[in-house]
Amino acid sequence: NPVLHLSGIEKTYNEGTPGEIRVLRGANLQIARGEVFALVAPSGSGKSTLLHIAGLLDTADAGQVAINGQDMGALSDRRRTAARRNEVGFIYQFHHLLPEFTAMENIVLPQLANGVGDKAARDHAMDLMARVGVDTRATHRPAELSGGEQQRVAFCRALANRPALLLADEPTGNLDPDTADTVFNALMELVRDTGLSALIATHNLELAARMDRTLRLDAGVIV
Ligand code: ADP
Ligand code: ADP
Repeated sequence: NPVLHLSGIEKTYNEGTPGEIRVLRGANLQIARGEVFALVAPSGSGKSTLLHIAGLLDTADAGQVAINGQDMGALSDRRRTAARRNEVGFIYQFHHLLPEFTAMENIVLPQLANGVGDKAARDHAMDLMARVGVDTRATHRPAELSGGEQQRVAFCRALANRPALLLADEPTGNLDPDTADTVFNALMELVRDTGLSALIATHNLELAARMDRTLRLDAGVIV
C-alpha cells in the first residue's frame, strides 16, 4: 500500500456564492514508502488546501484519502484524530513552537500526549535534535534561537511521534537563501534516515530538484 493515496479529491470554497472558487478538481496522488515529492505551483493554486486535506486537517468535498491503505473517511472522528497524531507530521513556513517552552519541551510534549514515557521522550528528542544540529540549544526557548534553529526544532517536533508521512508547506520559505539551503539539507537527511515519505510544497525549484519527483498543481489536478 502507498503511504499516502489521494484519489479524486475535490474542494470548492464559498460554493454557490459569487466568491465560489473550485480549488481542487479531481486531484490524484500516490506516495510510496520513502518517496519524497516536491509540490510546486504558484500561490493561490491550492497547495495548502491539498496538504491540509492529505493531513486530515480539512475535509474534501469528494474523493478519498488513504494513509497506509486505510480509508480515512471510513474512520470515526476519534480514530481519524489518532491517525493524524500518529501517522502525519506537519511543518509550516513559520515554526509555531510554543514560546513558553524550551526546544526540548516542544519536542517532548507531543510524545507525552501519545503515552510515551518522559525518559524515552527526552532521549528521542535529543537524538532528533543532534541529527539536525540543534542539540546544544535544547534548553533554549524559541525566542532565543535563530530562524534556522527554530525551524530545525520544528522539524524535530514534526517527527517526534515517528509519523509515516511528512507534509511540509514552504518549510524554508521564511529563511534567507543560505540558511534555507542548510536547513533544507538537514531536513532531507533526517527524512532519508528515517525512511519517511514526504510531500513538500516549495517555490524553490533548486530545492525541488533534489527530491524524487516534482509534482505541479494545474487547474486543480496534479500533473
Ligand atoms: P496555495 O497554498 O497554493 O497558495 P491555497 O490552498 O492556500 O493555495 O488557496 C487556494 C485558493 O483557495 C486561493 O484562491 C485561496 O484564496 C482560496 N482559499 C483558501 N482557503 C480558503 C478558505 N478557507 N475560504 C475561502 N477561500 C479559501
Ligand atoms: P542567524 O544569523 O541564524 O539569524 P542569530 O544572529 O539570530 O542567528 O543568532 C546567532 C546565535 O546566537 C544562534 O545560535 C542563536 O541560538 C543565539 N542566540 C540568538 N539570540 C539569543 C538569545 N536571546 N539568547 C540566547 N542565544 C541567542
